[in-house]
Amino acid sequence: MGIAVGIDLGTTNSCVAVVQAQRARVVEDATGKRIQPSVISFHPGGATLAGLKAKERLVIDPKNTIYSFKRLLGRKISSEEMQHITGEFPYSVSEGPDGIPVIQARGQELSLPEVSAIMLKYLREMCTETLGVDIDEVVITVPANFNDVQRSSTKVAARIAGFNVLRILNEPTAAALAYGFGGKLTEKIAVYDFGGGTFDITIIELMDDIFEVLSTAGETFLGGDDFDEKIVEEMRRQFLFMHRYDLGEDPVAMQRVRTVAERIKCQLSNLDEVEATLREIAYGPGGVAIDFSFKITRAKFESMIEALVDKSIATCQESLKLARLDVSSLDNLILVGGSTRIPLVRRKVKEFFNREPRTEINPDEVVAIGAAIHAFSLTGEELPEDLPVPVEPKSGMDSAQKIQKTIMGLPTPLKSDEPSHEDQGLDLPDVLPQAPPAIPKKPTPPAPPVIAMEPDPPAPPIDLVAGEDRILPKDEKGSFSIPMVNAAAASTLLLDVTPRGLGVATAGGYCDQIIERNAAIPVEQSRLFSTSTDNQIEVAINIFQGESRRVEQNTLLGQVQLSGIRPAQRGEVKIKVVFEIDTDGILGVSAVNEETGAAQDTRIQLLGGLNEDQVNALVSKYSKS
Ligand code: ADP
Ligand code: MG
Repeated sequence: MGIAVGIDLGTTNSCVAVVQAQRARVVEDATGKRIQPSVISFHPGGATLAGLKAKERLVIDPKNTIYSFKRLLGRKISSEEMQHITGEFPYSVSEGPDGIPVIQARGQELSLPEVSAIMLKYLREMCTETLGVDIDEVVITVPANFNDVQRSSTKVAARIAGFNVLRILNEPTAAALAYGFGGKLTEKIAVYDFGGGTFDITIIELMDDIFEVLSTAGETFLGGDDFDEKIVEEMRRQFLFMHRYDLGEDPVAMQRVRTVAERIKCQLSNLDEVEATLREIAYGPGGVAIDFSFKITRAKFESMIEALVDKSIATCQESLKLARLDVSSLDNLILVGGSTRIPLVRRKVKEFFNREPRTEINPDEVVAIGAAIHAFSLTGEELPEDLPVPVEPKSGMDSAQKIQKTIMGLPTPLKSDEPSHEDQGLDLPDVLPQAPPAIPKKPTPPAPPVIAMEPDPPAPPIDLVAGEDRILPKDEKGSFSIPMVNAAAASTLLLDVTPRGLGVATAGGYCDQIIERNAAIPVEQSRLFSTSTDNQIEVAINIFQGESRRVEQNTLLGQVQLSGIRPAQRGEVKIKVVFEIDTDGILGVSAVNEETGAAQDTRIQLLGGLNEDQVNALVSKYSKS
């Protein structure tokens, strides 16, 4: 095994870290940036851009600039989240084969694993450039509540990008690892992660260097984007009041407003008042350009977002309840995600948890640092102290261009490629440009139909496999020293839990849980079922995620068909359904006819909607560059 990096592939931003000379550190890009926006853009000139260069095109070429793709990865068009977000994206998302989303950009059709692969490949090339060595192996983090489809889609994306995935690791677990509450401590910690689009809270227990996730809860639609949107609404309201014109009618103006709103928000984390001017944001009577000056205080901003922040606190309460703990039994609190820089968020969190949070590691980087530490513990390989100089210096953008195949040139009638501050009419100090637009919510659609089956008493659970490993002591300098770890022992390093219950649909619209929410993984559980009608010769086993007894309140993940059943009276033929979740949190399901031993296996949507041939074609497409 070679050197492996840790990648935090975030909805908004991504970060890469590596262990070098016993220390975990962030891999910067050629310009020294430590965080890369998770955005890709198809340039009219034929290049495929990723990271900041792609994000800069959000205002000028929104149709061909893809952001927040992590939200779409591993989901079906019919899913709850997709139902309302697709309409909100300026880029085109349509329904592909088997109901999976497909993105159209500049004449190409791309699956979500492919889009994610372009981002990952960009990060991989950044590593080669910065570190001077090719990196083939990776630990990638995902939200603790990612289901198996989303996890396997992430794996497929990494495969297309040319990575060998050593492990899919939960983000909060990575954050906890980065802090290395080592030294045989027994601690219970809360990881509060407020990012761009999502909020997650996870309670983790450390016992004699073993990590165990006790509970995890979150909000799929609560993040920094919502704070931006509050400012956007206020700007729109004021502009409408002053000029009788709704900026919402002009998508380009709105994108500029969103960009500025995010900058204002970030500024308000440090300043009490921020003022911004958007030049020529609209045109008045006779085509006269209108500038828009907007001023907001931190106090006002805090009053606008307080209810949203309180929602995150309510979720913290829920997660403590799930773990059967109260605040006083926690020993530590870790803040993760860019939105935890907001003073109001810090105040509320501190008040609820009744303690000072740990913030020694940058909240944007802590997950990647933890992933790198884990990658190192799996390979035992680290970068030497002295960085080798790359033989052939490459530019990140050049590399990204190579990713791209044929582009049908759709010229954009827009002004310049590089938006300057002038361009955006913004009078603010330099900060990172534009955030993706916020995404509103919609209610859950009903779950798909179910089969008729009746459950038998549950089979005895199979023993869980548990592993243990050392957690890392923090050194005086605030970065992290890594003890050498036995790679074999490390392969079962962390105990994790499955975030949602998993079960099958049974007769009468019920859902029978096979694996319960928060069960430690890896895990295998089985249950016996029987046919529910006379002479039934096949069963379709619908697999659901969720805790409800009613199927319609849960989410359909996939289906296993078992045919060739001997015609018999209902209840006579027994079928054993086995659910197995591996260390990456990916679910495998098999159904066995107890009479004949005939079995049907499935890895649910293992390839994120792509079949093996399609994945191989993409692997070779992207390896040619
Ligand atoms: P994700 O995990 O979703 O990729 P991050 O953890 O990188 O996201 O968080 C991104 C969010 O953090 C964005 O909404 C961004 O505007 C916000 N953010 C970053 N810096 C600050 C800051 N200084 N003040 C307030 N919000 C910030
Ligand atoms: Mg994150």
